[in-house]
Amino acid sequence: MYVARSARHWADKPAILFRDRAVTYGELERRSNQLAHALRALGLQRGDRVAVVSPNRPEIVELECALYKLGLVKVALNSRLAPGELVDALDNAEPVACLAGPEHRAMVEQATERVKSLRHLIAFAPAPGAAPWADYEALLAAQPDTHFHVDMRPEELAVLHYTSGSTGKLKAAMQTVGNRMASLRKVIMGRMQAQPGDVLMLCGPITHASGMFIQPMLYQGATLLLMERFQPAEILEAIEKHRVTMCFFVPAMIYALLAEPSIKTRDLSSLRLVSYGAAPMSPARIREAWAAFGPVLSQGYGAGETTGGVVALGINDHRRAIEGERPELLSACGRPICESDVQVLDEQGQPVSGDAIGEICVRGPDVFAGYWRAPEQTSDALAADGWLRTGDLARVDREGYIFIVDRKKEMLVSGGFNVYPSEVESVLAQHPAVYEVCVVGVPDDHWGETVKAVVVLREGAQADGGEIMDFCRGRLADFKRPRSVDFVPQLPKNGNGKLSRKDVREHYWRGRER
Ligand code: ATP
Ligand code: MG
Repeated sequence: MYVARSARHWADKPAILFRDRAVTYGELERRSNQLAHALRALGLQRGDRVAVVSPNRPEIVELECALYKLGLVKVALNSRLAPGELVDALDNAEPVACLAGPEHRAMVEQATERVKSLRHLIAFAPAPGAAPWADYEALLAAQPDTHFHVDMRPEELAVLHYTSGSTGKLKAAMQTVGNRMASLRKVIMGRMQAQPGDVLMLCGPITHASGMFIQPMLYQGATLLLMERFQPAEILEAIEKHRVTMCFFVPAMIYALLAEPSIKTRDLSSLRLVSYGAAPMSPARIREAWAAFGPVLSQGYGAGETTGGVVALGINDHRRAIEGERPELLSACGRPICESDVQVLDEQGQPVSGDAIGEICVRGPDVFAGYWRAPEQTSDALAADGWLRTGDLARVDREGYIFIVDRKKEMLVSGGFNVYPSEVESVLAQHPAVYEVCVVGVPDDHWGETVKAVVVLREGAQADGGEIMDFCRGRLADFKRPRSVDFVPQLPKNGNGKLSRKDVREHYWRGRER
């Protein structure tokens, strides 16, 4: 959006670091202009959709800038999805062009059999140099780097953002130019003020959710450090080597970093913000992370439908909790950031208070324009009164902090009582032998469902099911306590690194109706 402006201010400053290479703001502007000319020369028109599937690399940032210059729509897919899921999503999005690295080219070629809209395939290096692929570098080299700009209206579509698929099939949230602008302001005002010299490390896929940090960082002249994959020791090494000041992780990544022995010896003192979110994280683990990273933690809550975070638990909120003023705040996801109206409403649309549980609802400039080609899902989520119903249940306290209870769809009913798996998981996470845990309802002829805990033990730790169940006595109401425990070496995650509870549940419900 603003790369031309940033290139005027900071031409020689690094916009991107990748492996041992730096791309300056000047280069980024020139190369994204060349790419915009190239896409125009291929015949792409304003409003056309363009997909990119690749692990993180600088060309994805170039593409993101070029798409804004041309008014094209980015199909935001998580490159870590399974090939079948990616093909389904491409089929749904019907892009005109697809850019891919060597890792995904076979999948994209296979997709062209079904996705007839795909007319242009562009390969990042090392390129195959043969049809159907055009070589990305050759396309750029043939074009001038003169500035390119179209004025986009706020209501125009900017991104088709495929949600994580935690609760069902992938669906695409339509994010407009206005939504993305609101998201940029939110990132900056809410949590990530930066300046030249700041280094933001991104190890989640920037083709997808982590892409929301690209434009805010470029606008502020900061540097994006792109990691191709998440490997805990490499991540810690890179923080030390590049003097990283900010990073974004999902909880599962933080757990893996905490278990990595070199976290004790690496110099992490450059960090001033460790932002996390996208899934619940237990207070016990937040405390461990605070001890390991220092007083730099900030949590965000949001969704594809809200174009990024709408609620944040900032560093000071963490401090209030950890220093004992309000310990329970570590169970909150925070307070609304800005821009949006975020309220927890009951079924009649009234704000809840006290112990009452309601649904987190959002209204404002960052609320998406509906699901792509799914009018029924759109009307379920977007009420006529303009509120987005997020499907997340929560309480609100007297200071306006929002405490997520769980997703509406995750609640299980045991003997007539509602149980929220997240709450049970949060207690189990305090057990010293538990590395990770997923709680699901399993079929039971007497109770309808009973609570099962599926546990991954910490390396070298031992515990049996009885001990885990006993641990919950006195910490949880009787009906919430797990009645059975299974141990597994690892839990299924979706492409974002989020726990896929639906896959765990399915294992126990196969062939039965819930
Ligand atoms: P799908 O909608 O396809 O089932 P998804 O909801 O996981 O998948 P996203 O839009 O990526 O897809 O994720 C948004 C959801 O993630 C939120 O609705 C909420 O349930 C969860 N979430 C996000 N941030 C937090 C947080 N800080 N704490 C707890 N849960 C969170
Ligand atoms: Mg969702």
